[in-house]
Amino acid sequence: MTVKELKDELATYPEDQFVHVRVWMSDFADDDRRRSVGQSAAGRRWCSVAYRHIKEMTVPILRRSAMEAASQCLYRYKALWIDGVEDQSDYALRGIAFHAAANRYIYLLLGAGTPQDFDLAKIAFLEGIATVPIPGRLIEEVRLLFDRWAEHFALDLDHFLTAEERQDTEGQVFTPDLVYGRPHELEIRDFKTFYVALTEAQARQDWQARFYVRNAMRKWPGFPSYRFTFEFVRLGKVLSLTFSPDELDALDRDVDAVLGMIQHATTTGIWPATPGSACTYCTLRCPLVDNPAVVPQRFSSPQLAQQGAALVLAAEQMLKVAKKTLKAYCVANGPILVNGVEWANRPVEERRYPLDALMEVLRSRNLLGAFDQSAAQGLTISHSALSKLFRQFPQLVEDLSPFVQSKTSYRFSARKPGVGDDGEDE
Ligand code: SF4
Repeated sequence: MTVKELKDELATYPEDQFVHVRVWMSDFADDDRRRSVGQSAAGRRWCSVAYRHIKEMTVPILRRSAMEAASQCLYRYKALWIDGVEDQSDYALRGIAFHAAANRYIYLLLGAGTPQDFDLAKIAFLEGIATVPIPGRLIEEVRLLFDRWAEHFALDLDHFLTAEERQDTEGQVFTPDLVYGRPHELEIRDFKTFYVALTEAQARQDWQARFYVRNAMRKWPGFPSYRFTFEFVRLGKVLSLTFSPDELDALDRDVDAVLGMIQHATTTGIWPATPGSACTYCTLRCPLVDNPAVVPQRFSSPQLAQQGAALVLAAEQMLKVAKKTLKAYCVANGPILVNGVEWANRPVEERRYPLDALMEVLRSRNLLGAFDQSAAQGLTISHSALSKLFRQFPQLVEDLSPFVQSKTSYRFSARKPGVGDDGEDE
């Protein structure tokens, strides 16, 4: 029996029984579980039919989001995909709502045969958002995100392949946001509502990118290369990774490794909670991070995040005062040893050279050309090191602008609105 046939059959049963599909999909051989969930008459009838069919299937269906959850934290995987706990975090709801509107917009553009149309975008937002259970407090944020994205988005009509359509490959399911098939490559575009863009190194490690590309290679073979593009819609940034079909074997092994983890946990019944990046948006009750003895590793609502931020500010102030007092104590009484760590006032030597002296020495040694290849050698001087000079001679900023090498990274810090990290008014 195919999955589609099973789903068609299940569609004739009460909707509130659907949650149990996930139980059997992942745990279909567990007789005790089958008995414990099928209590009502309808449930029992549903159970016996579904159980029989699922027993006949040899390969359980695994979705990308399920496997991604398993790769991050098996406890989370079991809660969401076996026990059927709902994930109603703002993070998830915001993403679902944005994707619903974006998907509606793509299909309206396709129908109209035009790459861009802001009037259609407005319709798509209303129609898309109406299909998802989003709380009112998130609507404005999703609209701003969607408008910002739609303003620049242009659908490549000639190479459109699919958008938000479920793809099955050998028992694994993925639903790419948008796929283009071009003669030289297949591109999967994925919309992210993150606050911080991934670096290229983080993106390369990203489970979803690897899983999608692996399944795209199987679903749409024969392209010379496969590109996975993250669109960080909040930040207006795009990051692409390219994979060659030669990498399929490595991608297969990554997927097999996660399958192995799931199988092992199913056999042993041990589903450990593993703190990591998923904790930042996971809202499950968790045996690890909800333990008051450990430092919070997630905030499941804006209110809790605000409390956490206030706690960090207060703790930083306390830490500053405590360090100052300890420093004063050590000045008077010598080092303090605690848990194998020694607090002490240690000499730190900082060496600086006046620029005129440096130039003079280089000239006298006939080495003024020493920096001719500086760009190739990666020798640079930071903007902040030159800030005094820039303040004295503002024209220099413009003179140097053709040579500036800028890179945006993210530094997590606290500051007063209107004041820069350097303490200057913005
Ligand atoms: S909070 Fe973190 S460790 Fe706990 S279940 Fe969620 S992802 Fe796993």
